[in-house]
Formats: sequence, structure tokens, C-alpha cells
Amino acid sequence: MTKKITRREAIKDMFFVGVGLASAGTLLQACGTRGGAGKNPADLVFTPMPEAPEGSKIDSRRWDSLGETLGMLGLGCMRLPTLPGANGGHGGRLDQDAVNDMIDYAIAHGVNYFDTAPAYGESEVVTGNALKRHPRESFMIATKMSNMAWGNSAPTLEGAKTMFETSLRNLQVDYVDFLLLHAVSSTSEFALRFENNGVMNYILEQKAAGKIRHLGFSFHGSNADLPPLLDKYAWDFVQIQLNYADWKDMPSGFGPSDGDNPTSSEALYNILVERGIPVLVMEPVKGGALANVSDALRAKMLERHPNLSPAGNALTFVGSLPGVMVTLSGMSNMEQLKENVALFTGFKPFDQKEMDYMLTIADLYKSNTHIPCTACSYCMPCPNGVNIPGNFKVFNTASDNLSIPDPAHQDKEYKQKRKAFLKAFNELGDGAKATACIDCNACLPKCPQRIRIPQQLHMISGLVESLG
Ligand code: SF4
Ligand code: SF4
Repeated sequence: MTKKITRREAIKDMFFVGVGLASAGTLLQACGTRGGAGKNPADLVFTPMPEAPEGSKIDSRRWDSLGETLGMLGLGCMRLPTLPGANGGHGGRLDQDAVNDMIDYAIAHGVNYFDTAPAYGESEVVTGNALKRHPRESFMIATKMSNMAWGNSAPTLEGAKTMFETSLRNLQVDYVDFLLLHAVSSTSEFALRFENNGVMNYILEQKAAGKIRHLGFSFHGSNADLPPLLDKYAWDFVQIQLNYADWKDMPSGFGPSDGDNPTSSEALYNILVERGIPVLVMEPVKGGALANVSDALRAKMLERHPNLSPAGNALTFVGSLPGVMVTLSGMSNMEQLKENVALFTGFKPFDQKEMDYMLTIADLYKSNTHIPCTACSYCMPCPNGVNIPGNFKVFNTASDNLSIPDPAHQDKEYKQKRKAFLKAFNELGDGAKATACIDCNACLPKCPQRIRIPQQLHMISGLVESLG
């Protein structure tokens, strides 16, 4: 069944898109003036950093409250390389040999924090196989209690026990160094998943027995939701979403964070630092979105740092914050790992001026219309076959490049934009396109970014329909 959208609805949505694009253009011009250099983007050349020398190590920081020294870069094992032909994302078959190579390189260069979860498909098994080949004291494993409250039934103690025991078995270890309660957003959710069913008591027993060395949670709620959760327990660390685009305002759904319930990386970071809790950072590159910014934004960054890619700028912003324990990057290939290792070897933090400059880049980035999807794939699989992150990527990529075709403005670029957009959309395959969404809402509670997924898919369908 295909959900139809009327032309009127499509045009309404197009108006929203148009507003975003228009303001982006204005801001880009303004920033060009402010930036001063005014160089032609075509003249700006990216000169990648040289690969980190053999035998060198990434920079590390000492965390006395944990008694640990941790490399500043952590390997997020959510987007590990997949075998050729695999679908990718969770559920895709992972490439063990490629993962082994990446983990060997990471450990050789001082990366000692590896983050996985039961919710990441084969990740725990493959990561465990790769790490097993190294001395246990040379790495730290972080995994999660992914007992999400999806569906109608509340998570059970038995389910949590099975999950934790399976994690130890998959990872082939007797203990985990860091355990995170996965994707917690409020005290009511904490009560449902951990308090009322005895799961928290069980986890504390495991900690007392030495099977969990450090306990924390990954957080997906608002600024106001964080302090009451911190009051629940003397957490060893907390993981938050932090990047330059979300620093001042972290959108949820589609648009800025709720005015009555604001969320920002800055506020979350400050709350944790004020309490002396080490900050673990997820989504420093916003699911890859900040690695694939428009040519105009790329040029604005290259003007300042010719040897930093857009991803390098995003990671440097995070690494420059002294309260950050580890910057987790979900790397998918050796090239990304080598670039990130080079960046954190002899790490050069941004000064305040550079941090402020990144916030002007954030303004430009956010002046454009984005669906805040981080491609985490928690919403997948869609029971009706829709490739949810794939559709959002098609839209966001076109938006980043200011190439959303607008039928109301059929200028000379329209045909080209239309052709490119439809090509990318059609490459998703018939059953996987936004048009296949039937509004079952099964995906909605799974999205940590609180995106109104069906609504946004219909916006994309409407756009496609309006292109004729
Ligand atoms: S609402 Fe979500 S889960 Fe249901 S068909 Fe649409 S995309 Fe798939
Ligand atoms: S829509 Fe939400 S759950 Fe799905 S991939 Fe994007 S951020 Fe993740």
C-alpha cells in the first residue's frame, strides 16, 4: 500500500524547504563577508594530514575518578565495514577480516576504547573476535544494556540477565570495562526499564561482582531530563550527543528543539562537567552528516585549516573540550580510522576563536533544512521494507548542496536538480522508497532523535510527487 500525498500538502512542504534554502543563501553571503578571506572555493585545496607514523600513539587523558588513562579517540563499532553486497547498517553481515585490520591498527596506535552494543547486530561478536587476539589489558570494552521499551511489554529482569550474559559470551570476556544503560531519556523511562523490574539492582550486583568496572548511561533526553537521572546513582561517566552543529540547539524531530524543553550539547556538557562526571561523546560528526557538508561550508572550513576535512573539524571541536573523556567515532573503513588517528596524534585543539568560528559554520549548516537523522538504523528494519535512513540521506544530501528541486521556481538549474534528486531517490529501489511507508508507526518509538519518521517520509514522497 502506498500513502498518497496531495499536491497542496507537497507544495506546503516545499515552502518550508524553500524558506530553509533562501535563508541559507543569505547567510552564506553574510559569512563570506565576515570571513574576510573571500577566496574562490575552487582555489582551496585540501591537503590531508600525513598518516600517523608507525609506533606513534594518539593523545590520551588521565581520568582520576575512574583510575583510567584513555585514548582521546574511541572506536565506535556501530558502523563497522560490511561484506560486499550486504545491506549495511544493523543486520548487515560484517566483514571480520576488515574489522580485525582496523582493530589491530587502532590498538597499535593507542586507541583503547571500543564501543559496541547488543542492538548493533553482529557488532559484539565481530568486535569480540577481533579483540580476543590482543591481550585483555590492551583494550577496554564498552557495551550496553539495550533493553529498549519497544512494543507493548515492559522490559523484564530475565531479559536483561540474558542480554548481559550474552554480551559477555559474544565479547569473549569475563567482565566489561564500561556498561551503559542504552539510550535513556527520562526518569520515567529509567523507572520502566531499570527500577521497577529490578534490572538496576541486578546491574549493581554485577558491578559489585567485578563484571562491570564502570557504569554509566547514554542519554537522549532534554537538558531538563538530565539532572534527575544523574541524581539516581553515582554514575562513573555519561555519554551524550555532542557536536558543533548541536552545541547551541539540538533539534529533535524536524526543527529546533522544543522551546519549552530545550536540548543542546553545550547545556548537557556543562551539567556533567559541573558535577565532575567524565563526558563520553557520541555522534561527534552527527552520523556522518558533518563529514558531507556542502561545498560552500567545506570551503569556509578549508580557508582556516587546509589540512582538516569537514569531519576533522567536527572531531577537533569535540576533542578541544577538556571535559570530554573519549570522542567516539563510528568508523566504517581503514581510511577513516587512519585520518582520525592522525588527527588525535599530537592533537591540536581549537582555541576559543576557532571554536566560535565553528559555531558560525553551525549557523550556516542549520540554516538549511535537515532531517536530523544520524543513520543509526535503530528504526530498521521497517516491516514494510522502507529504507528510512536512506531516504533521509537522499533528502539531506540534496539539501546540503542547495539542490532540492523546487517546481515553483523552474529556473535553468531546476532540470538538473530534479534529475539528480530523482536519480538518487530511484536508486533506493521501489520497495525501499519513502512512498512505501504505510504509517504503521512501528519505527517511531525507536528513533533516539525523536524524528517524526512517517511525516518526514511523506514530505519526501510529496516532494517527489510534485516533481511529476
Ligand atoms: S511508519 Fe515507519 S515502520 Fe511503518 S511503514 Fe512507515 S517507515 Fe516503516
Ligand atoms: S530515523 Fe532515527 S532511528 Fe532511524 S536511522 Fe535516523 S536517527 Fe536512527
